[in-house]
Amino acid sequence: MTDKIHPRHIGFDIDGVVADTAGAFIRLARDKYGLGDIKPSEITAFQVEDCLNIDNTKVEQIFAHLLTNPIEHGLEPMPNAITVLNELATTAPLTFITARPQKSPIEKWLTTHLSPAAASTMRLVAMGEHDGKGEHIRMMGLQYFIDDRAETCIRLAEEGLSPYVFNQPWNRGRHLLPAVDDWLAIRELCAMAA
Ligand SMILES: [Mg+2]
Repeated sequence: MTDKIHPRHIGFDIDGVVADTAGAFIRLARDKYGLGDIKPSEITAFQVEDCLNIDNTKVEQIFAHLLTNPIEHGLEPMPNAITVLNELATTAPLTFITARPQKSPIEKWLTTHLSPAAASTMRLVAMGEHDGKGEHIRMMGLQYFIDDRAETCIRLAEEGLSPYVFNQPWNRGRHLLPAVDDWLAIRELCAMAA
């Protein structure tokens, strides 16, 4: 029996963990660019252009929409993410660390979805790059981190932190670290307030 993680010691990546970024990408590709029927299981690389036969410019445009205006472009939370985050927030403030370069659009998105109490105490770091998350994780006083990018998690483990990979088609078979399938598994990992 392992000890549960206290919510004050765990942080979260946003895209591919809290937000169903792949789902929104697929919808935007279909509805705005006429790229019909991409299946989530086909996104087998973190860099989408490496695994799908889509023009690089279109990929960049779609991601730009999701970065600058996630609400209008239909970015939705992952199943059960908001319920579990709101529960965790009753024990400790939530911490999000994202590689996104712009803080304010995703802050608005989080505030729209989270309970007012959870949103008012949350901490959000928008780093603007994929590397160097470990430093921010430590500065925020965290030990555990959930991320969908295998390379990020491998690096965090090397730095003495305790990452969990959020299972997605693009990280399968790319690491040997502990992993979670969904937010109910994250709830199981954490010690909740009674
Ligand atoms: Mg991510």
